[in-house]
Parts: sequence; structure tokens; C-alpha cells
Amino acid sequence: NNPSRKEVIIIGAGPAGAAAAAWLARAGHAVRVLERSHFPRFSIGESLLPRCMQHLEACGLMEAAAAGGYQRKTGAAFTRRGEHRVIDFRDKFSDGPGTTWQVERADFDQRLIEGARAAGAEVEFGVTVTGFTPARAAQSDVTSHAQGPRLTLADGRELEAAFVLDASGYGRVLARLESLERDPRLEPRMALFGHVHDGIADLAPPAEGYRRDNILIASHPTHPDVWYWLIPFANGRASLGVVGPRELIEPAAEDDAQTRLWQWVMEEPRLAELLRDARPANAVQSLGGYSADVSRLHGPGYALLGNAGEFLDPVFSSGVTIALESALRAAPLVARELTATRDEQRPDWASEYEQPLRRGIEVFREFVTAWYDSRLTDIIYHPEPHARIRQMISAVLAGYAWDTANPFVSASRRRLTALARLTAPGQALAPDTVQES
Ligand code: FAD
Repeated sequence: NNPSRKEVIIIGAGPAGAAAAAWLARAGHAVRVLERSHFPRFSIGESLLPRCMQHLEACGLMEAAAAGGYQRKTGAAFTRRGEHRVIDFRDKFSDGPGTTWQVERADFDQRLIEGARAAGAEVEFGVTVTGFTPARAAQSDVTSHAQGPRLTLADGRELEAAFVLDASGYGRVLARLESLERDPRLEPRMALFGHVHDGIADLAPPAEGYRRDNILIASHPTHPDVWYWLIPFANGRASLGVVGPRELIEPAAEDDAQTRLWQWVMEEPRLAELLRDARPANAVQSLGGYSADVSRLHGPGYALLGNAGEFLDPVFSSGVTIALESALRAAPLVARELTATRDEQRPDWASEYEQPLRRGIEVFREFVTAWYDSRLTDIIYHPEPHARIRQMISAVLAGYAWDTANPFVSASRRRLTALARLTAPGQALAPDTVQES
């Protein structure tokens, strides 16, 4: 079962792997996806950003995804000590879709990988990658040939590929095997989460101002570094989670997770009211230390996609967007690797992939940092937001973190810091706070 020398092997069938596989298969390349689990499988990460819709179009998976009939999402609602704000993604600085979906990932990921398979990708489930040897360049010695990267599988097979894309998410296959892991530069946090039958539609009268087409992000009334998500789905269920420092969030025992999550929920009045009729739909899980980074996103014959490279923090739902962005940036470069007849036609992965991808990730990192150090929360909860500034923030939160025409992309730290200084109570946000440089 040796693949031909020209086969691209993708590790992992999550959104990053499926998007890259679909793009390459549609471009006529031989692609094999190796996935450890059997789908459908649970995954956290259910709130998409509108930028994802462009990615799904670009890799030809929009139709497959839309068939899921998912809950429409138009923005993010925020609540803190009785104050409510909404950032509507349709009102934003950057061009592009302003709505997206809230999806149950077991279903969504399965539709994407089936779409990639329909486009011509080979997909094997229940196959774990355990070993890796990077590509070796040809020696001048005529007896020594160039060799593609090689993978070892748990079932004993050895496969040689033309190129390997690591989309193994939290499996972090190449980060571990190639010793690429580095400090993620974000404090370690923990999340407790589960699905609920939310019962919100049945509330009479309907909860004031509540909309199913928004993710709700609630801040704990007294612990500023603890926040919650409520992501309603189309079927009366919702994803519910709480995030904070591990020492506060970690349940004493695994079977205590359900109780702990609900204790936290009861401490936030808006959620406690909205979820008063809710019932658990599955077991509560915990996940900690999920922020991760690598020293580089590419090497001889391979590149890292999505969470297999870097993951920041769940607060702005950037994970799937970054996963898809990385796949759609890498796939055309892989195609060039496969068709290049001369060295100068090969892509330069540092300048054509890693640097531009990381620029957008850095924008999200600055927004995440500004959320936890309260610069961004102060901006979001400002009573008299300036319309143009709000559109710029909205564009980043909608996933347009690579649009350098947006001052909050091109100079995120400076803009956020300057703006936060002006958000002291009673201060109006003057139009000249932001020049559209
Ligand atoms: P994954 O979806 O993780 O897919 C990787 C696949 O690789 C898996 O199917 C796995 O089985 C497979 N694999 C692993 N190891 C191997 C191996 N050795 N061999 C073969 N296959 C392997 N993102 C959002 O966009 N919105 C959110 O609301 C959101 N909320 C989040 C909340 C929390 C608490 C956390 C921690 C994350 C959240 N995320 C969210 C992030 C999101 O989960 C990820 O960014 C996203 O799933 C990454 O997609 P991916 O394709 O890179 O990897």
C-alpha cells in the first residue's frame, strides 16, 4: 500500500486538514488524510467567525457545510455586572461576509472531511501517526537521491510522502516529534464545558435582549479573569463553558466537573437567569494548558496547520478561523512544491507562509491579551462607542485579522492601548482617536 511519490499526506481530519485536503484534491493532487479517531467525534470550538465563510468557499466546502443547517451567528454579545453590549459583525470595517454559524463540531467536521473525500481526497480513520523523518535533499553523490518526508504509523506502516501537512490539532504530532514546542506566552488557563438543552426558547417572557444568533460572553461579577461562553445551536442545545486560572477552575475530582460548572454559572446573574430551565446534554469536560506555540511552522518537506502549530485562547473564537486560514495559505504553496521543476519555483515557506500567517495570529494575540488585562473590556463596555472604532474592532472580532487597512490590525497594540486610555468613565471616544492610516 505504498503511496506514489507525489502524494501529500495530511495528519488529522479536523477543519485545517479537511480544508487543505479539499483544496489540493480539487486542484488535481493526490492527497491522503490520516485521522486517529473515528468520526463523528466530539471537538470543542463551536463558534465560527465570518471570515471562515470565505475559507469554506475557497476550498469548495461551503455547500457541504451549509447542508448542516447550523444556527446563524451575527455577532458577539457581552455581559458584565448587568451591563450588556453587542458587537454586530455585519457592521464592520473590512469587506467580506458578516455572518457565520454556531456548529456542533462532531457534525461540522464530519461534513467537511466527507466534502474533501468527495473532492477526491483519500481519508483513513483509526490511523495514528507515531513517527516522522523530514525530507532529505539530494546529495551531489549520484547514488544518494532526494527523499520525501516519511511517516511511521501505529499499525506498523511506513509511508513516504511528497509533502506532509500536520493538522493534528492538540495531538501536536510534528511539534513533539521535531522538538518545535515553545512557550505560548499566554498564561495557562483552564476551561470546563459541556452541552446543555438550554430551554431558553421556552422562557416566557423571552429573556430580554437575548439572541440565539450571538455567542454570549459573560464576565464573572467579582473574578475579572473568569469568563463564560454560551453558544446556542439550531436544535435547542447550546455549548456552555467557563474559563479561568487553573487554581480557580480545576474540579477537585473528575466527577465533580458538572457540579463545578453549574456553581460557576449560578454566580453570573444573566446566565443563571437564561439557563434556569437548562438540563445537561452530555458529561462536562475540562481542558487546561491549551495555549501552545512552536518555534517554526515549516521544515524540510512539511508545514504545520491550525492548532498543530499555535493556539491562543478561546475568548474570541479564533481557533477554527486560524486553522482554515493556515490551510488555505499552505495548500497553494504545497501545489507549487509538487509542480516545481526548478528550485527557484519552490515557495519560500518563511516569507510566503509563516510570516504572513503569524501577522494575523499576532493581532488575535494582542486582542486576547487586551481582554485579560482589561484594555479591551473597557473599550467594549464604553457607554458611548465611536461608530468607526467599533467597526474596526468588529472586523477583527469577525476574523478579518489580516486586513492591514484596519488600524487595529496594522498597529493593534498601539491602537488598543491608546484607545483604552481614553475609555475612563465619562470620556467620549473622539473620532480623531483613530486615523485611518
Ligand atoms: P482539530 O480540530 O483538533 O483536529 C485535529 C485532528 O487530528 C483530530 O481529529 C485528531 O484526532 C487528529 N489527530 C491528532 N493526533 C493525531 C495523530 N497522531 N495521528 C492522526 N491523527 C491525529 N475555536 C473556534 O473557532 N471557536 C470557538 O468557539 C472555540 N472554542 C474553544 C474553546 C476551548 C476551551 C478551546 C480549548 C478551544 C476552542 N477553540 C475554538 C479552538 C478550536 O478547538 C481549535 O482551534 C480547532 O479545533 C483547530 O482545528 P484543527 O483542524 O487545527 O485541529
